[in-house]
Amino acid sequence: MLRLENIIKKYRTSAVETLAVNGLSLEIQQGEFVAIMGASGCGKSTLLNIIGMLDNADSGRYMLNDKDVSAMRPKERTELRKNTIGFVFQNFNLIDELTVGENVELPLQYLNIPKNERKEKVLKVLEKMGIAHRQNHYPSQLSGGQQQRVAVARAVVTEPKLVLADEPTGNLDSHFGNEVLDILKGLNNAGTTIVMVTHSANDAKAAQRIIELRDGKMLSERVEAVNQL
Ligand code: ADP
Ligand code: MG
Repeated sequence: MLRLENIIKKYRTSAVETLAVNGLSLEIQQGEFVAIMGASGCGKSTLLNIIGMLDNADSGRYMLNDKDVSAMRPKERTELRKNTIGFVFQNFNLIDELTVGENVELPLQYLNIPKNERKEKVLKVLEKMGIAHRQNHYPSQLSGGQQQRVAVARAVVTEPKLVLADEPTGNLDSHFGNEVLDILKGLNNAGTTIVMVTHSANDAKAAQRIIELRDGKMLSERVEAVNQL
């Protein structure tokens, strides 16, 4: 599904240069559930943002679905992202001024999907996440666990092939965190490729493969025996 070759990403501020990703190569197959672990600051989010085309590498090659992302124009990249990738963030990133239903509808609007079809898809995914009864609520009226379920609904409403999650349980207590993990496992069992950044060894058990980063490089890689639902 995707292949990174010798990816380098530097951040420069006036005083220092940080090598956030330092010559990393990685291949992820369609249908995999991969967890990325490592200490704070080791480059996990930077790597995920490069995979999600929210950020560009300084050098190296990135192939997604056999297309060379590194050679694409920004507009092409945006199109590919909208059609292929869903994002889930630690702090949910919902839009406070929009209702639950409107938040989930947004990615469909970006894809110019007709209104009737949008309403249908929104309702279907909210039902799947067990949150349809909160459709007309605003994010601030929901618990953290409910907000993250809305955020997952928004990430998957377009039926993306690849879901990227950056510490999706980081702001949730273990009960709600496990709910979100179960949802991700369910999506993976239905064929969605998932790459999840996590601090939690327990959460990483949801994955089939665990990659550990240190200083922007791959430190180790471990394949889990089973992906239990
Ligand atoms: P992680 O997600 O593993 O905590 P990040 O990918 O966020 O790590 O950051 C990797 C390194 O790059 C860190 O040293 C961080 O301080 C630095 N960094 C990340 N984003 C920026 C930025 N926008 N400007 C400058 N440095 C950054
Ligand atoms: Mg991070």
